[in-house]
Amino acid sequence: MRLIMFGPPGVGKGTQAKLLSEEFGVPHISTGDMLRAAVAEGTELGKKAKSIMDAGRLVPDDVMIGIVRDVLRSPKVKNGFILDGFPRTVEQAKALDTLFQELHIGDYRVVNFAVDDAEIIRRLGSRLMCVNDGKIYNKLTDGVSPEMRCPECGGALIQRDDDKEETIRKRLEVYHSTTKPVLEFYNSRGVVLQLDGRATVESVHNEIKRLLGV
Ligand code: AMP
Repeated sequence: MRLIMFGPPGVGKGTQAKLLSEEFGVPHISTGDMLRAAVAEGTELGKKAKSIMDAGRLVPDDVMIGIVRDVLRSPKVKNGFILDGFPRTVEQAKALDTLFQELHIGDYRVVNFAVDDAEIIRRLGSRLMCVNDGKIYNKLTDGVSPEMRCPECGGALIQRDDDKEETIRKRLEVYHSTTKPVLEFYNSRGVVLQLDGRATVESVHNEIKRLLGV
């Protein structure tokens, strides 16, 4: 299983990547999670990334490409990977292509999650994240509130700094101007699987498996 989860923020890429990762034992590689971990640890990368992320902008390509190169060269991905949040620019997609050639990876798929902007704003504005395990919940569909604890690990539930309305709008703008063109790159290679991301978590999960034939 070699997958790239593609689509705007808040579309369910991370949730679906986690489910597939658990079911098939393939590592979930979320560049957003890696950056948030760096911020939490207060590393040099974290210090630089924090203000960029809070503004809804993108961390520079060379930094992101370096991070993903290290992960894809490591033994933990020898049986596959689920990339989530990368590539986000055509430059990153080209670098990933070069890396795939180096590593003799030819059989990969891009799962494109389609959801309109109004729905994304609604979803992102109502989601909460566990500070402990990073799990995402939604106030509208999961019945959680900031006063509650994570149902799985008991961690505090918070709104991500970049899930504030102004930042959400900026992230969507960046998605349309900079990230969406990446889809053309993969369409021309015939590796894109189209998905309607509006359905329930379970039916989207089943649809991905149907598309992959697993
Ligand atoms: P995510 O959790 O995937 O929504 O990522 C959160 C934030 O991390 C993004 O809004 C960007 O600021 C940053 N980020 C994550 N992945 C990338 C990437 N591939 N390129 C640039 N910035 C990224």
